[in-house]
Amino acid sequence: MQVLSTVKEMRAACRAVRREGHSLGLVPTMGALHVGHIALVRAARAQCNTVAASIFVNPTQFGPNEDFTKYPRTFEQDCALLEQEGVALVYAPQPEEMYPAGASTFVEVEGVGDRLDGASRPGHFRGVATVVAKLFHIAAPDKAFFGQKDAAQVAVLRRMVRDLNFDLELIVCPTVREPDGLALSSRNRYLSAEERARALVLSKALNIIATAYRAGQKNVALLHEAGRGAIATEPEVIIDYLEIVDPDTLLPLTEAGAGALVAVAARVGSTRLIDNTLLD
Ligand code: AMP
Repeated sequence: MQVLSTVKEMRAACRAVRREGHSLGLVPTMGALHVGHIALVRAARAQCNTVAASIFVNPTQFGPNEDFTKYPRTFEQDCALLEQEGVALVYAPQPEEMYPAGASTFVEVEGVGDRLDGASRPGHFRGVATVVAKLFHIAAPDKAFFGQKDAAQVAVLRRMVRDLNFDLELIVCPTVREPDGLALSSRNRYLSAEERARALVLSKALNIIATAYRAGQKNVALLHEAGRGAIATEPEVIIDYLEIVDPDTLLPLTEAGAGALVAVAARVGSTRLIDNTLLD
């Protein structure tokens, strides 16, 4: 496994892969890897000859009062895991390499990028779209792998790939959960044991909504109420948003239908967690 830290090296390594006629899969991450990330790597291995992963805690997607500096960094462990999983290339640049002094070009996905987390975290998706566009330009993968866990991010990146004519396929992999339902997240390691137990209410609320929908309830206001009621049983879990939206535009729906996205974000103590489900 090669570990590369400059744009030039990464670009050359990816070019060499393509020159040999191999397909290249890219798995962008911020590190602090868990089984959810590994599921993306395995999907990439199944679909592409060669897999590259990036590890980059992207400063432009964090707000001024967010957790950029305390975000978990476990580089050695991450590399060991990626090597074990058969990843060929790891791209781990420093922020100055990705954003040279004076960098002033950003990718803004208007509308979609301002909804859900884009509304709660202004500028977040501008940072995400910018760094992912840069990674796509550097690696030029055939396929790029993302998790459904970040459903709004998927909507933003799908739109960006379409609008900017990126020549690649975006593959979305299902959310990986703990046996008790908690969606895996690098931020789960911020949770105390009590907070972790409280956080379970998020996946429970999503299940309650999905179950009510399956039983015939299509009224979004009533579905919301059921979800909010569930979360209210944990008064220390503070809802940021709970919405039922179109998965592509992220615009709110008045009536739930198959494929609707139910997305939740909440604070558990000082940790902000997100989760979602697609109605079937
Ligand atoms: P992150 O390192 O948090 O930026 O995540 C990198 C990629 O892993 C993103 O595409 C995430 O959506 C994906 N991911 C994170 N958590 C999970 C999970 N529990 N299940 C599936 N994919 C995930």
